[in-house]
Amino acid sequence: MIQEKQIIKIVPPREKHWVGDGFYVSSIFSMHSEENKHISPFLLLDHAAPKYYPPTDQKLGVGEHPHRGFETVTMAIKGEVEHRDSSGGGGKINTGGVQWMTAGSGVVHDEFHSRDFAEKGGEFEMVQLWVNLPAKHKMTKPRYQSLDKKDLPIVLLQDGKTKVKIIAGSFGSSLSPANTFTKINIYEVEGHQNSEVNLSFDDGTNTLILQLAGSSFIGDHNLEKGSLGIFDRNGISINLKTSEGSKILILNGEPIDEPIAAHGPFVMNTRDELFEAFRDFQEGKMGSLPD
Ligand code: MN
Repeated sequence: MIQEKQIIKIVPPREKHWVGDGFYVSSIFSMHSEENKHISPFLLLDHAAPKYYPPTDQKLGVGEHPHRGFETVTMAIKGEVEHRDSSGGGGKINTGGVQWMTAGSGVVHDEFHSRDFAEKGGEFEMVQLWVNLPAKHKMTKPRYQSLDKKDLPIVLLQDGKTKVKIIAGSFGSSLSPANTFTKINIYEVEGHQNSEVNLSFDDGTNTLILQLAGSSFIGDHNLEKGSLGIFDRNGISINLKTSEGSKILILNGEPIDEPIAAHGPFVMNTRDELFEAFRDFQEGKMGSLPD
């Protein structure tokens, strides 16, 4: 018998706020919310819905700031993001690309619209997801995975038009090249009128579905643009049907059932570790950016 995962809550679209001066985002969920246990191993999800930026020679984004104890996954859906970090690295996330940054023991970085994008102007859409690390990996060495659009497999469903892009994990026999510390599946789905998408995940895993554009149906539930569907851990299958122009972000992962002590850019297990993170950052132990 195939047991369906049930929706336990639909969170309506969130209000938008600025992160720095380049990212006008809706905070879809965070580890501080009451849905906490249904979100793990994910911690936070920000969506910068499509927004037009006129050409500028200014740097739009967020200046130097640290992270420790988790991973940031930045998906450039439209437009480009440039970043620099305290290990001397840096680069550009191009349209359709993903940067999977493991902050681990600590990095300092900045995040801006790319110079090329800013000069031309245009529509910008981005998602940033924070993924928790299990206690034993929180202080792992920082690492970057740059996943270009061409590196991420896209599965065309049997109807010949519905596309599933695999950002992490697997779908059918296709695998994402992203390395993760715990078992995670992330898909971006492009659906049309009456596209049917059948998903299958491990029993006991958490699943979240964000409607980026258009709408979709999951059983009797209608998921409108900007809404988040939160599923029960039990069950293995989810069947969804989309409307024309539907775009969906699907997150699934094995929960990390460990205590969370989070403040600002740090996510640890205890308050002591949190204080240590602030101290280490202030003492320059996470490095700094070149001028
Ligand atoms: Mn950051």
